[in-house]
Amino acid sequence: MVNSLEDLINYSRIYYERGWMVATAGNLSVFDRASGELWITSSGKHKGRLKEEDFICMSLDGKILRETANKPSAETSIHQVIYSQIPTVNAVLHVHTVTSCKLRFGLQKFNPATRFLLPNVEILKAFGDFREEPNFSAIVIFNHGSVLDISRDLEIALRERSSDVPFFLIENHGLTVWGKSVEDANKNLEAAEFILQVMVN
Ligand SMILES: [Zn+2]
Repeated sequence: MVNSLEDLINYSRIYYERGWMVATAGNLSVFDRASGELWITSSGKHKGRLKEEDFICMSLDGKILRETANKPSAETSIHQVIYSQIPTVNAVLHVHTVTSCKLRFGLQKFNPATRFLLPNVEILKAFGDFREEPNFSAIVIFNHGSVLDISRDLEIALRERSSDVPFFLIENHGLTVWGKSVEDANKNLEAAEFILQVMVN
């Protein structure tokens, strides 16, 4: 787990420098399914200067496993839903990129989720599908004031139909990706952000 936390700390610095995690925004986690330990960034920490003690160790259902004075990220429930619904996932990265905030879907509180078609760009192969025109879509959720409402709507969407791609959007808010490992999730994050940039431009 120490290696995974080091990876998260290093990527966090990179994401901060890219402007993806400014003003303490965003949260990163890893989940070790063997031990049942979920490590997630504490609330309110500067993402360019994370240390190992800035991570909180909890169970998948949110029980704190190691004593800490820190509070888990406000968006922990989003990570919990992804780990619960997709059994192959061991890392989740949530960032606030400018690109992910620019796309408009017109979602509302009572129409809080939809899927949108992605362009058939070459970089989709980063997700491991080599068809010429996969016509993938991605989930987008309304940015409810309560994070629990966001994670509930994500859970409903994932139960309805699995996601074509390892990421989803929260409108006006940001991008969340997942992967088998921190490295895999980072690759998916870079690919997802690239696809969103193609859409915005
Ligand atoms: Zn966020």
